[in-house]
Amino acid sequence: MVIRPPSEAGSLLLPVTIGCSHNECTFCCTYIGVKFRIRPVDDIKRDIDQAAQNYSWSVRRVFLEEGDALICPQRRLVEVLKYLNKKFPYLERVGTYATPQSALIKSVDQLKELNRLGLKIAYLGVETGDEELLKKVKKGATYAQLVEAGRKLKEGGITLSVTVLLGLGGVEGSREHALRTARVLSDIDPDFAGALTLMLVPGTPLHKDWKEGRFSLISPFQSLEELKLMIENSNFTNCFFTANHASNYLPLKVRLPGQKAEVIEMIDRVLAKKDMSLLRPEFTRAL
Ligand code: SF4
Repeated sequence: MVIRPPSEAGSLLLPVTIGCSHNECTFCCTYIGVKFRIRPVDDIKRDIDQAAQNYSWSVRRVFLEEGDALICPQRRLVEVLKYLNKKFPYLERVGTYATPQSALIKSVDQLKELNRLGLKIAYLGVETGDEELLKKVKKGATYAQLVEAGRKLKEGGITLSVTVLLGLGGVEGSREHALRTARVLSDIDPDFAGALTLMLVPGTPLHKDWKEGRFSLISPFQSLEELKLMIENSNFTNCFFTANHASNYLPLKVRLPGQKAEVIEMIDRVLAKKDMSLLRPEFTRAL
């Protein structure tokens, strides 16, 4: 299974790590049973050589896989980035997923060094700004750590794209989740923010909680209420905000704060009608 951000669809996907260094989030099924490891540099270089044989002239973007390539020791990342620059003369951008933990162990100077070598964008999973919920879903980071990680990446000159997860607080925690997530997003003030919608996947601890009655899934319209609350209460400098992931019921892309009133009005119109035909059908989610 290959996981990458939608915006990296045209990128050369280069596995630098296998799995996720954290691998504990209760809602995540991506690397269940996968033992995390960092690939040897020689193996990575061999992959780069192979790709360069045919695509040296065409590669503009590279995405470092898998779950958390930023966790690699600085020396290895530097070596990989230098080699990418050598083999792909038209390289414009390298991207990576980052966990809060991996961003926090790097110094700002180290991030600046990676940025000079081409690491231009990092995708950080924030999920929620609700401190209790962060613990409950085993995100492995506190509110303050999420903010610090996000700000640090930006200070390192790296464009920051964060994701949050509608529905993560369940029905009972929905409002708190939305309001606190709006606050953490505002505190981080990323360049891009994406709201995905929770999908329960068999095999995850959260799915088990749901099956055994400890977690209640919000309805599609409740996910729109959350989205509206998040947007209404966020305070960005200039953020491209999307909810156009395949898991979302109402795809949208807006520039905030500029289009705040416009998008809230649009969500309100859908909420007023409560007409399921205005939403993505359940069977097409995540396809
Ligand atoms: S950090 Fe990301 S990839 Fe790793 S377990 Fe959590 S959600 Fe999954």
